[in-house]
Amino acid sequence: MNTFTVIFLIALVISYAIQFWLSMRQKSFVLKHRGAVPDAFKDKVALDAHQKAADYTIEKGKLGDIDSVIGIIFLLILTLGGGISFVFKIWSFLDLSPMLTDLGAVATIILVMTVFEIPTSLYQTFVIEEKYGFNKSTMAQFIKDQLISLALVIAIGMPILALILWVMDSIGSLWWLAAWAILMSITLLMSWLFPTMIAPLFNKFTPMEEGSLKDRIQSLLSRCGFNSNGIFIMDGSKRSGHGNAYFTGLGNNKRIVFYDTLVDSLDEEELEAVLAHELGHFKCKHVIKMMIASSITTLISFAILGWLITQDWFFSGLGVATHSNAAALMLFALVSPVFTIFMQPISAYFQRKFEFEADDFASQNAKASKMISGLVKLYEENANTLTPDPLYSAFHYSHPPAAIRIAHLESKPQST
Ligand SMILES: [Zn+2]
Repeated sequence: MNTFTVIFLIALVISYAIQFWLSMRQKSFVLKHRGAVPDAFKDKVALDAHQKAADYTIEKGKLGDIDSVIGIIFLLILTLGGGISFVFKIWSFLDLSPMLTDLGAVATIILVMTVFEIPTSLYQTFVIEEKYGFNKSTMAQFIKDQLISLALVIAIGMPILALILWVMDSIGSLWWLAAWAILMSITLLMSWLFPTMIAPLFNKFTPMEEGSLKDRIQSLLSRCGFNSNGIFIMDGSKRSGHGNAYFTGLGNNKRIVFYDTLVDSLDEEELEAVLAHELGHFKCKHVIKMMIASSITTLISFAILGWLITQDWFFSGLGVATHSNAAALMLFALVSPVFTIFMQPISAYFQRKFEFEADDFASQNAKASKMISGLVKLYEENANTLTPDPLYSAFHYSHPPAAIRIAHLESKPQST
């Protein structure tokens, strides 16, 4: 057996063993604490809400495990099972130009992967979300969403892929530097276009009505010296009862978006505090830092791929008989998560650090007590567990666990 095959299999076993072990810990920890609301939340959260969150967390965890098993099987079929080789061979029989052969093969693999993910996604939406009262979507809506996503992949993803493949073929050994520069420019352009061109394909955005809430938000924005291109309410309730608020866009195309579900469940001061937290991410330069970090990791990935593509063992070790740039791209995208999963706790750590900083900003510019009561409502309404396993959350959580986050907010000087 090829040495690289052995390395790949060992990494695969270790990475999934870690994931299954953490998931098992999470489910049993949540179950163990299902019987009583943690002390810190005794007078804030009812027992039945706490138990609903526990059951919901455990059910989602089980589905995640099944999804991982499907992922492993699929990865092995595509690589060592010869799936990628097979698809490229079929397309080469059609005698198209090399570019069309490559695009056709990659599109086929992506399509098959998407189709395989549909059952999990259906189960998540129409069984689990439905059972806990979150699902507001219909089958027609679900199909429409899938078709719009597919159309976006064809209209935007395929031309980008064609451009990258062309660069790989024509620029020589430093192609990866050019491909990285192209990809970064497109990412910037997409983030800039997203709020006005892409998000409206999926949801309706209504400017927030004049009134006390808008006045309150505008005074927060001017207090913090923040410019935006409007405050919008999104009809999140047409798909799900989960609530959220976010910033989107870049430069002069920034928007503040509240889910209608969030506006319905939080009071004005809580919404102000949540928004102040989001502003904190901008003011503390988290958005820029994340973009720089992701552009550096993308550059490193492309440099590694630039080297791998010249190595025979990379292809043969992963079950691909014929060398091609498109096959290398596919292999790299499929296999690299197996090796990079060990980076996840590091990135999760920095994300949680940013959350604390944004909470600090929120407690300076709005009421910490309102941030806390808003968070408790969000945890309760989204059925997020208050008692995650410490190791699981250290590995996976982009936000600090509720109890730690609230204790941090409570330690801030409280304004009234
Ligand atoms: Zn945040």
